[in-house]
Amino acid sequence: MDDTLRNEAFVRRVRLFSEWPRQTEDLRRLWELAEAGQVPHAVLLGGSSHATAEMTKFLANMWLCTGEPAPCGECPACRWFAAGTHPDVLTLDVAGADIRVEHVKELLHTIAYRPHGGRLVYVLAGADALTPLVANLLLKTLEEPPSGVLALLTAEHPNRVLPTVRSRCFLYQTDLPATTVEAQDGFAALLPAVIQWTETMLEGREHPLELADSLLALAPSEAALPLDVLASWLRDVLHVRLGDEEHIQHRAWSDDLHKQAQKAPTQGLVQAIDLVLDAKSRLTAHVAPQYNYAQMCIRMRRACASPCKDEPRFA
Ligand SMILES: [Zn+2]
Repeated sequence: MDDTLRNEAFVRRVRLFSEWPRQTEDLRRLWELAEAGQVPHAVLLGGSSHATAEMTKFLANMWLCTGEPAPCGECPACRWFAAGTHPDVLTLDVAGADIRVEHVKELLHTIAYRPHGGRLVYVLAGADALTPLVANLLLKTLEEPPSGVLALLTAEHPNRVLPTVRSRCFLYQTDLPATTVEAQDGFAALLPAVIQWTETMLEGREHPLELADSLLALAPSEAALPLDVLASWLRDVLHVRLGDEEHIQHRAWSDDLHKQAQKAPTQGLVQAIDLVLDAKSRLTAHVAPQYNYAQMCIRMRRACASPCKDEPRFA
């Protein structure tokens, strides 16, 4: 495989990941579990049908991929998947109609008689509309899942899914209400300064420790806030970089988004978002904010900007 192919595969993978309305710590946790081969055997995806359908596709592809890192986009399983012809993806989506007993019985029959040991995904869209009768039929596959079988359930309203089903699934909320982060006090006031900070960081002219100080100085008594604003902004830059303008949150800053998206490498942006989320989770572990910010800025500069010539080397 030459480098061009490798890069395309990487971008394809990033593009899928970046399609989420927001990259959250929950998503990262699920991602890390999946990367470690520990996909929960039953996942209940809550959220809009668009968001859950995309996440379902992604997890199913990852589960069935035989290459590395999954989904590799190149193995036979990935090709079948992309063509929509993978034989081991079963979907129960009765397009608005009720999911009936016979549908589920057919599904269970197929699971029971699948080729030995083979991996299989079944998708049940609209789990919040399941009748207790149908849900009871499914419980066994959720409780004692046959090995190699991954159940992906989706529900616009996960709190309406029957408790017997819900309690047996890893609940993952794909899109959170837009108010959770942006409605924080001070978020809007900090945004212009964070945009300017990102510009400076990308230009690579300021020392990482100065970058850390200036970011923390934006809200010294509330160290998590600049990180929330920065993560939200970097996600938008990444969306623009990938040509995915649909999910942008900060449309009023479109000129800045486009300007910065041209300067920042895709992979660097993905790393930068991870670094911000890492720094935020370390704040709750009582790491001193100054040290935490400094570590983040050193690594972010390395990922996103070309270093200054006179910059000292950090371990
Ligand atoms: Zn693959």
